[in-house]
Amino acid sequence: MKKTIRDFDLNNKKVIIRCDFNVPIKDGAIVDDNRIVQSLTTIKYALEHNAKVILMSHLGRIKEEADKEKNSLKIVSQRLSELLLVPVKFSSTTHGAELESLVNSLKPGDVLLMENTRFEDVPGKKESGNDPELGAYWASLGEIFINDAFGTAHRAHASNVGIASHLPSGLGFLVEKEYNALSVLVEPTHPFVVILGGSKVSDKIGVIENLVKKADKIMIGGGMAYTFLKAKGVNIGKSILDEESLEFCKKMLNEYPDRIVLPVDNLATKEYSNDVPYREVSVNELADDEMGLDIGPKTVELFSSILDTAKMVFWNGPLGVYEFSNFTKGTEQVLSKLVSTSATTILGGGDIVAASSKLGYKDKVSHASTGGGVTLEFMEGKELPGVVSISDK
Ligand code: ADP
Ligand code: MG
Repeated sequence: MKKTIRDFDLNNKKVIIRCDFNVPIKDGAIVDDNRIVQSLTTIKYALEHNAKVILMSHLGRIKEEADKEKNSLKIVSQRLSELLLVPVKFSSTTHGAELESLVNSLKPGDVLLMENTRFEDVPGKKESGNDPELGAYWASLGEIFINDAFGTAHRAHASNVGIASHLPSGLGFLVEKEYNALSVLVEPTHPFVVILGGSKVSDKIGVIENLVKKADKIMIGGGMAYTFLKAKGVNIGKSILDEESLEFCKKMLNEYPDRIVLPVDNLATKEYSNDVPYREVSVNELADDEMGLDIGPKTVELFSSILDTAKMVFWNGPLGVYEFSNFTKGTEQVLSKLVSTSATTILGGGDIVAASSKLGYKDKVSHASTGGGVTLEFMEGKELPGVVSISDK
């Protein structure tokens, strides 16, 4: 058993909380603040217990100096302050005098957010490469370390594993909740049904290989269905194809012909756009100049009838291009069916959770994970370094 934040006396202590504030940002505004909202339980608990709170997180990827401006956490400090109803101090640097003096001036009940941990990736990938000096330095700023960032728990970075190796540490409420909610998927209740969508098969080969052994049915929609359909010899027109995964799809279809369920119809259009006409058509009738951007009504019916039999459902990846209103229908109708069943329902993946939130279903499923890649690795049975590195009870 790992320690959690409840196992520490936080009074008057400098508590570093690694959060996952990796929120989508468009045109300088936060598009979806779910990850900030989900982090509040742990932060509020620390404040109520008189801690001096130091928050750390990454945001996006920093490959060069020019990536820094658009990935600053400043905007998160403002949103966090509105949600917490207390001022949130902000350190614009990730090491040095400004950061240290802000940390040293904290009083119990104060909150400080440090700039994006990945600013330390340029130069030298110190954060993502878990540079030992960086982890030791950040740890020197605090007295207790709490890991509440589930989205990066599958990575060993300086800001999680690095800090944890120098301080007494525990899990935050969000990581604990995610861990418990997703644990049921390691040994699922049957019939266990998986819904997979999204664009590329190659991103998810490990997941498919793992799940096809555990699931009673895997229903495949979204862009990745076309690589499977092509592997069966169907003409997919201009639909998205993941050529390098064709052989893999053929092998899966050969080995598990009854388990893998593919779309029977789709919404077809001539351009990747929301502003051109589209038609409902069977998957075998796509013209050479058409592409499928959503599953059709017969596929919704087929998937729904399988959902009726399920006791547990895991869903990753939207079933159509949900960013376009014309091609949200499949995802929306299957979500609507999903929440009407009595099964345990779990969504994992940035886009499917964003789609469910946009369409109003996020709070109706058993669990919507804040993790993307980590959820998939967890289900593959891999250990999570961000959790393993935390002190045992
Ligand atoms: P998740 O984040 O839930 O794991 P992915 O990132 O794998 O999902 O995939 C999401 C993307 O898949 C979305 O941007 C969506 O537009 C795309 N997608 C879904 N269906 C199709 C399709 N038929 N053609 C092209 N792209 C698709
Ligand atoms: Mg995604």
